[in-house]
Amino acid sequence: MPVMLISPPFVQLNSPYSAIPYLKGVLSANGIGCSSLDLGIAIANRLFSVEGLNALCEFIASEPKFKNEDIDFFIKRKSEYLETIEPVVSFLKDKNPSLASKVMSLNYMPKWKMSETAVPHDFVNTDDFEYSRYIASLYIEDIFLFYKAVCPEYDLSKYGEKLALSPPVFDNIYRSVVQNDDMISKLISEELNKNDYSDFNIIAFTVPFPGTLLGALKTARWFKKNYPDKIIVLGGGYINTELRSLKEPKIFEFVDFICLDDGEVPLIKIIKYSQKKIAKKDLVRTFYIEEGKVVYSDNSDIKSSFNRGTPDYSGFNMDDYVPLIETLNPMMRLWSERNTLKLRLARGCYWHKCAFCDTTLPYIKNFEPEEIKNIIEDIKLMTAQTGLNTFHFTDEAIPPALAVKLSIELIREKIEITWWGNIRFDKAFTEDVCKLLYTAGCIAVVGGMESCCDSTLKNMNKGVSVEDAVRTMYNFKSNSILVHAYMIYGFPGETVADLVDSAEVLRQLFKEGLLDSAYWHRFALTRHSEVFKYSGRFNISVPNRELNPFANNDVNYIDISGSEIDDMGNGLKKAVYNFMLGIELDKDIRSWFDLSLPKPKIKKGFVRKILDSNNYGVNTDRRILWLGTEAHIRKKIIEINGISGKIEYELPKDIADWLCKLINESCIFSTDGVKIQVAIASFPKTSGLGFSDFINNEIWDDLFDAGLIII
Ligand code: SF4
Repeated sequence: MPVMLISPPFVQLNSPYSAIPYLKGVLSANGIGCSSLDLGIAIANRLFSVEGLNALCEFIASEPKFKNEDIDFFIKRKSEYLETIEPVVSFLKDKNPSLASKVMSLNYMPKWKMSETAVPHDFVNTDDFEYSRYIASLYIEDIFLFYKAVCPEYDLSKYGEKLALSPPVFDNIYRSVVQNDDMISKLISEELNKNDYSDFNIIAFTVPFPGTLLGALKTARWFKKNYPDKIIVLGGGYINTELRSLKEPKIFEFVDFICLDDGEVPLIKIIKYSQKKIAKKDLVRTFYIEEGKVVYSDNSDIKSSFNRGTPDYSGFNMDDYVPLIETLNPMMRLWSERNTLKLRLARGCYWHKCAFCDTTLPYIKNFEPEEIKNIIEDIKLMTAQTGLNTFHFTDEAIPPALAVKLSIELIREKIEITWWGNIRFDKAFTEDVCKLLYTAGCIAVVGGMESCCDSTLKNMNKGVSVEDAVRTMYNFKSNSILVHAYMIYGFPGETVADLVDSAEVLRQLFKEGLLDSAYWHRFALTRHSEVFKYSGRFNISVPNRELNPFANNDVNYIDISGSEIDDMGNGLKKAVYNFMLGIELDKDIRSWFDLSLPKPKIKKGFVRKILDSNNYGVNTDRRILWLGTEAHIRKKIIEINGISGKIEYELPKDIADWLCKLINESCIFSTDGVKIQVAIASFPKTSGLGFSDFINNEIWDDLFDAGLIII
C-alpha cells in the first residue's frame, strides 16, 4: 500500500476534512492503494479525556512557569472535570442522550469563562436537548482554555495559526518545528508512535488552513526522523494560496515535494516518480529541491487523464468526531454539525469576477462543472458507505443551473438527503427554483452578499444588485431554506456613509426575516485579486510588490482616500450578534457604534418596499415542471397528485383534458418540463377563455401550492 494520506492537527472536530476522502477515492479508482489518518481528531479525543486532563495536570506540575487564573481554576476543580469529561464528550457524540438533564442542571459540570457567556435559555427558541448540547460545548471550550494556558499555539481546531498567517520568511515556523517542545508536539509523537508505517512509500498531507501548517510540518519531521526513506508530500488550500512563489529551501528539510492546486494529478505523478517511471522534471505543479535551490515543475499544460473516483470514507471512524454547538443559531450550527459529507458540483467559480477574490488562481478561475449523473452516483455510494445523508456542497458558488439539475435527479431517483452549500445571490434562484431545491432536500445556503450598498457592489464587480439579492433571499426564505450572508467592510472606495447604509440594509434584512445569520469580514488585499492587479483603479497604493521567499498572499496597502472604516468593525459585529438573536432589530443602526456616524440615507422601509413591488413577469422561454405525480380524469373530475396530497376539480372538458396533459407531460419523473409558450399555444381555443384568464384563476395558485413550478 504506497500512500498514507494524513489530515494534520487541527482541521475540524465534527467530521473528516473533505480533501482526504476525495483523494482516497481518486487514488483507489486509479488502482493505487492508500490509507488515511486523521491525526487531528485522534489528538483532540485524547485532549478531551481523563487521560488528557491527567497529562495536563502533570504538564502544569512540571512547569512552574505555567500560572494564571485559568490554570488555578482548573487545578481547584480538577476532580469535577475528571469526573465529567468523558460522559460529556460521549453526550456530544450522541452516545449518552440521558445526560441532557444533568448537563442542564446547575451543578453537574464546573462552569468557567466560556460557560459564563452562555445565552440564557429564555432568549433562544430551542428545546432542552439542543440547549444542553450547547452548554456541554461551552464546557469543552472552558477546558480548551486550560490547554491554551500551557500551549498558547493551540486553538480548538487550529495549531500555530498566527505563525502561518502570510509570514514573509520561514524562520519562526522553522524554529517552532525544530524546538518541538510543547504539549501538542508531544501528543503528535505519541500518536504517531502507535503505528507502523513501513508499508507506505509516500506520506501525503493536506494543509487546508494556516492553523494546520505547523502540525503538518511537525508530523512530517517525525517521519523524516523515524522513516527517512519515505517520500513526504504537502498540498492543500493554504499551499495553493500562500506558497505559490516559494523560494525557501529550509522547508525541504521536512518534506520532499510541495504540490499546488488540485492534488490528484501531482500526487499520481509523484507516485510514478517513486516507481522510477518518470523523472522529477516531469512532475506536475510541484516544488522540490535540487542542488540547494527550490525548483518548480509546472507541466500543467500537459493534459493528464485519471479516473474520477468517489470520495471514500472507509477507514474513518465517524464515532470519533465531536460536534460542538458553539451557537444556537440554526444556520451557524450547520458548520459544526456532526458527520456531514462533502461534495462539489463544479470546480472553480462560474462567476469568477469579484474584484477582491483570488480570481487569478486556477481554483477560482477554471470553472469545470461535474456531470450530475456522477454526483448522483457519488451520493448513492457515500450514503451506502457511511449511513449518513447530509451533504455540504463546498463549491465556491453553486451554479443555479446545476442546482436545478441536481434537484431534478434527486427527486426523480427518490434520493432522500438534506444538503446545503455556497451560492451567489443570483437572481436565477427564483422562488420556483428555490421550491424545487427545497423539495430536493436543500436546507440552507451561504451567500457572499459582501455589501448592501449598490456602488460598493459595483466596484466589487459582484454582478448582483441589492434589489436582486433581497428578492433572492426572499425566494430561499419563503421556501424554508436558511440563509447566511458573508459581508465585507473596508473595500477600497467604501465610505463611512456607504458602510452605515450597508449595515442599515442588513438590519432590515434581519427584521424582515430574510437572513438567519451573517458575518462581517475586514477586507484584505490578496496578491491574486483584481484589486491587487489594478490597484490604481481602486485608489489604493501598494508600497511593496516584491515577492517574499516564503508565503505570499495578504499584502499591505494604503487606502488613498484615508477612509476610517477600521473603527467600525466592533459595532458591525455587535449589531449582527444581536440581530442573529432577534434582539433590538428596530434600534437605530448607529446606536451599535461608539462613534459619531452619519444618518443612513436608506429609508426605513427600503427592504419591505422591494418585497412589496411586483417583479414577477413570466418569461415564456421558461419551462413548467410538475413536482407531483400523474393526473387522471374520472367522470368529469380531474384528479391531480401533488407533493402533499391529491387535489380535484370539476372543469370544462377541454380545459380538463389540456390540464391533465400538461401535468403528465411536465411531470418531473418523466420529463424536464414543458415550455410555457408550448403550454400557451396548446390552450383550448374552444373554451372561450384565454391562458391569461386561467392563470389568474385560483386553480393556478392551488397548482403552485401542490407542486407546479416554472424554471
Ligand atoms: S467571491 Fe465567490 S462568487 Fe465571487 S468570484 Fe470569488 S468565488 Fe466567485
